[in-house]
Amino acid sequence: LHRNPGENEFHQAVHEVLETLGPVLVKYPEFAEKKIIQRICEPERQIIFRVPWQDDSGEIQINRAFRVEFNSALGPYKGGMRFHPSVYLGIIKFLGFEQIFKNALTGLPIGGGKGGSDFDPKGRSDDEIMRFCQSLMTELYRHIGEYTDVPAGDIGVGKREIGYMFGQYKRITNRYESGVLTGKGLDWGGSRARTEATGYGTVFFTQEMLKARGDSMEGKKVVVSGSGNVAIYAIAKAHELGATVIACSDSSGIIVDEKGIDLAAIKQIKEVDRRRISAYTEFHKDAKYVKGGSIWSVPCDIALPCATQNELNANDAKTLVENGCIAVAEGANMPTTPEGIAIFQKAKLMYGPGKAANAGGVATSALEMQQNASRDSWTFDYTQKRLEDIMIDIHKSCYETSAEFGSEGNYVLGANVTGFIKVARAMQSMGVI
Ligand code: NDP
Repeated sequence: LHRNPGENEFHQAVHEVLETLGPVLVKYPEFAEKKIIQRICEPERQIIFRVPWQDDSGEIQINRAFRVEFNSALGPYKGGMRFHPSVYLGIIKFLGFEQIFKNALTGLPIGGGKGGSDFDPKGRSDDEIMRFCQSLMTELYRHIGEYTDVPAGDIGVGKREIGYMFGQYKRITNRYESGVLTGKGLDWGGSRARTEATGYGTVFFTQEMLKARGDSMEGKKVVVSGSGNVAIYAIAKAHELGATVIACSDSSGIIVDEKGIDLAAIKQIKEVDRRRISAYTEFHKDAKYVKGGSIWSVPCDIALPCATQNELNANDAKTLVENGCIAVAEGANMPTTPEGIAIFQKAKLMYGPGKAANAGGVATSALEMQQNASRDSWTFDYTQKRLEDIMIDIHKSCYETSAEFGSEGNYVLGANVTGFIKVARAMQSMGVI
């Protein structure tokens, strides 16, 4: 803690992983001897830089940006960029740390990293977004590359921002290096199913948890927090598998539509018009908008937190359990507080932590890198099938590891231990690095 003062989210993420690793160190004492844990908790490299840019009125704005290159034992650093005013080093480090184990779980050759900026894209014009992205890349370009570090999107960063960043990278380096960023547009090196991947993957994982207990998504009532990239495609896949999503949200309020959330309306509001979720009632007069409402108080069978860290606390967890919720799968990173997780585990509901449940996004990013490396472009169905198979494998390995370490069905332990062992073995093979 004293090495990383004030980085609360990072402490939380590390604590959650270390808590589950005791039995691993008993089984593999060499990991302790070689100080793998101490090494894995220290990023290989952290870059912090100034991003100056001019807004539409000509005023100069200054933001701070980060890239934390956490661990490259399994492959080039891989992880998204987040643009949100709450971003500081502690958030990027927690995300980068989680990313190490998540990426290991995918079985693909990618290390862990994360980046972002305290830039707030809300209310900014398209030109302002472009100027900001260009300024950011004017520094970031020297740290990234197909074989070193491959950023992607996250909160506040989608195809538009990746486009501006890629354009600037190409211009500065004079290289059409498709594999330097993922989440690109389909016309210029992007992968089909990448936009959908995190949300779809979360629902595939949920389906696997249910299957393991002889159940399915069919007929289930689902609530999904957020209404961004992950949330939208979680809603889409849940509907496709026969469930009904009855509520979603943004940071201002929640929408409840008992008939089932109308995906076309949400896509229009968020992806096309870039408006607030409250606009949903213009499409469906009978839907309810509650300003500042808590989505976790809406009774459901399945809850999918898909917005942000620590959005589901102990009280929310209690409410979900009391209302008969049977499964929670995290589309977001670390959305449930440690106290909330403890309540889920005590109640023995199925709980899929983000590291496992939302790994479909980065997995499909790695598939995008494969397509770029081979100058190929796969069909939607083929890519989606690969994604589904990866999620099935992640579920299987987490489940089997949880059983092997005496805590069957504990996906927190399963995900942490499976990911850790993979990375630890690679680090051990490479000597003291
Ligand atoms: P988007 O920016 O597309 O959407 C974020 C959504 O979450 C919005 O509805 C936003 O509402 C809401 N939100 C963000 N911050 C807060 C906050 N502080 N309080 C309440 N609501 C908030 O991001 P993504 O959908 O890409 O990411 C969502 C989560 O999924 C994040 O935790 C991210 O790390 C994780 N994730 C994303 C992946 C991806 O492929 N995109 C991959 C793996 C994980 P508002 O508009 O009001 O801010």
